[in-house]
Amino acid sequence: MIKFNVPPFVGKEFDYMREAVANHKICGDGIFTKKCDEWMEKRFNANRVMLTTSGSSALDMAALLCDLKTGDEVILPSFTFSSTANAFVLAGAKLVFVDIRPDTMNIDEKKIETAITEKTRVICPVHYAGVACEMDTIMDIAKKYNLLVVEDAAQGVMSTYKGRALGTIGDFGCFSFHETKNYSMGEGGAIVLNNPLYIKKAEILREKGTNRSQFFRGQVAKYNWVDYGDSYLQSDLNAAYLWAQLEKADEINNNRLATWNTYYNAFKYLQERRIVELPTIPEGCKHNGHMFWLKCKDFETRQAYIEFMKENDILCVFHYVPLHSSPAGLKFGCFVGEDEHTTPDSDRLVRLPLYYNILPEDVQRVIDKTLDFFGV
Ligand SMILES: *Cc1c(COP(=O)(O)O)cnc(C)c1O
Repeated sequence: MIKFNVPPFVGKEFDYMREAVANHKICGDGIFTKKCDEWMEKRFNANRVMLTTSGSSALDMAALLCDLKTGDEVILPSFTFSSTANAFVLAGAKLVFVDIRPDTMNIDEKKIETAITEKTRVICPVHYAGVACEMDTIMDIAKKYNLLVVEDAAQGVMSTYKGRALGTIGDFGCFSFHETKNYSMGEGGAIVLNNPLYIKKAEILREKGTNRSQFFRGQVAKYNWVDYGDSYLQSDLNAAYLWAQLEKADEINNNRLATWNTYYNAFKYLQERRIVELPTIPEGCKHNGHMFWLKCKDFETRQAYIEFMKENDILCVFHYVPLHSSPAGLKFGCFVGEDEHTTPDSDRLVRLPLYYNILPEDVQRVIDKTLDFFGV
């Protein structure tokens, strides 16, 4: 059976976890947490990065830091994971879903402006498959209307847009280190704080509403409950696991990209003959090989393809059911403008097996069976 995903494991994870235990500090903000945070700050040229318990909790933090009032509106794509939306619902906002572009499956930056009202406060672009949204346009719109930008870069660790790391362009960026992502700690994530105005508030928010971070730095004599907060600190045990993978970040990235390119080259011919559609990597974007998707001509063909691959012991999977037509989406938001691509294109999309160190012969089998199915 060729699995759809196998979580990355590079070999040093257990050594580092043992070291974390030997340090007698396995809670948050230990040695490995600091290593991971600092590595990301340096590598991504980010102002401040903090590990969190998940990509979802990084989004929750970002949404709370936006300080939304009931009825404030947040613009986001409907073609995304529930976590993107949950964060803003929990923060009291109303969701405004905007259509996606068919070439990247990212929010269509040209359709954002018409969705803006007096109540709009935030734009939340999602970098689907680790391919960047059109951030220059999005940042220009945000500036023009005085909006905050939260980048859902859960899938975008190590990707760039015009030389800048995804997650470092908006006011906040959110990464995920779930086991389905490129770098993993089981469950985990990180928030990127690009606007220095929010750093102190973020430290308090993640430390149960206390100023303990300032206390540890000797900036205050004792620590107090100073504001509302929660616990978003990741355990140093998990950070130790992640650290092994960050040390090999380039190797993992290159390995995934090589598989992605192999698929792309093998299926280019199908695209030229208009049998399938393949992802576009826009000019100026460098992606991280997070995902390889293709779009069949219709829903029925996609279902038949998934079934055919399964019969051949290969797991290919579809992706998001659009949020705006889901029970919670109907309750918490609305779609603005025409659903030109969100529903029709998500119905046709399928993802192929792609993970760190997938065997070349397995990749070849996925290719052969796919070409068999499409009759070429
Ligand atoms: C994975 C993912 C999340 C959630 O991350 P978790 O670490 O699983 O909480 C949020 N948004 C997108 C787009 C994702 O792919």
